[in-house]
Amino acid sequence: MDLSQLGEFGLIEEIKSRFATPEEVTGIGDDCAILPQHLGRESLVSTDMLIEGTHFLMEDITPYQLGWKSAAVNISDIAAMGGRPVATFLALALPSFLNSDWVEEFLRGYGEISDKYNCPLLGGDTTSSPDRISICVTIIGETPKDKARKRDKAEEGDLICVTGTLGDSAAGLKIILDNMERDELAQKLIKKHYLPQPRVIEGMDLASSHGIHAMMDISDGIGSDLRHILKASCKGAVIDTTRIPVSAEIKTICQRNGWDVLDFAVNGGEDYELMFTVTPDAEKNLNVKHWVIGQISKETDGIIWMGSEKQFNGYNHFSN
Ligand code: ADP
Ligand code: MG
Repeated sequence: MDLSQLGEFGLIEEIKSRFATPEEVTGIGDDCAILPQHLGRESLVSTDMLIEGTHFLMEDITPYQLGWKSAAVNISDIAAMGGRPVATFLALALPSFLNSDWVEEFLRGYGEISDKYNCPLLGGDTTSSPDRISICVTIIGETPKDKARKRDKAEEGDLICVTGTLGDSAAGLKIILDNMERDELAQKLIKKHYLPQPRVIEGMDLASSHGIHAMMDISDGIGSDLRHILKASCKGAVIDTTRIPVSAEIKTICQRNGWDVLDFAVNGGEDYELMFTVTPDAEKNLNVKHWVIGQISKETDGIIWMGSEKQFNGYNHFSN
């Protein structure tokens, strides 16, 4: 079987089946691994890569944006568990034709978001690459014991919520890939794609709130990411597509071009908002700004997308 048949998640399952996870540790399958520590704390660990040609176009992204995004997508995985970022490690493979200005700008972007979340860079690895840039960041975070929010805790009747508007990043990517005109509106969407803002404060607040069950960050689009929560929790869901929050910018650009806003909001990835499930009672008392988009149901229901005739699957490497 080739990888396009196996798919990204089939391959991860294959890897998972070969390696046992020690007791008291959460391993493959969540946004981070969870490792117990002393003094009532747990460590969170995650790693994410950005490969030129797959995740970014060198001729379009600025080195500052690439540096920011490399750290941001990793910090988001700590936010996804409700954790506090602690430190990152940066592995770089760079072609030798890059100049020192490029590297300086990359590090400035990486450094600004690291400072913002008080998350120092503590190590890494550096090597040359024949022609393409590859960036791999490992991040460590922490939570009080048993406070990390996992994907497998959704319960029937929970409300499904998101912390912000969806689809802007994917619309920004389409503008980049289709080489469209970059007016002010387009630039706002592109900025969402290149400078994502991980929901660290919101994640920590949610993790310490009563009644929050499952949580994850939205990196592949809710069409794909919701399936991870449902699969891990053995549940189904009903989503009211009319309640999915979208920005004024994406509505306007979709109207102009005859695009379906749901294709971006549901299938499009890289918004890095949080998606969580919460009991209806607890939802009323949450401090964190959020939108209710649906409800958890029985596993046999699958996902029902109310208000739309389409089915949504999100992003899957090797298959898309
Ligand atoms: P995220 O989008 O939150 O970064 P992924 O979809 O990339 O998560 O990965 C899903 C899960 O599979 C995570 O727990 C991740 O650690 C694990 N995983 C992904 N690739 C590998 C791999 N090559 N080896 C081991 N675990 C992996
Ligand atoms: Mg994630």
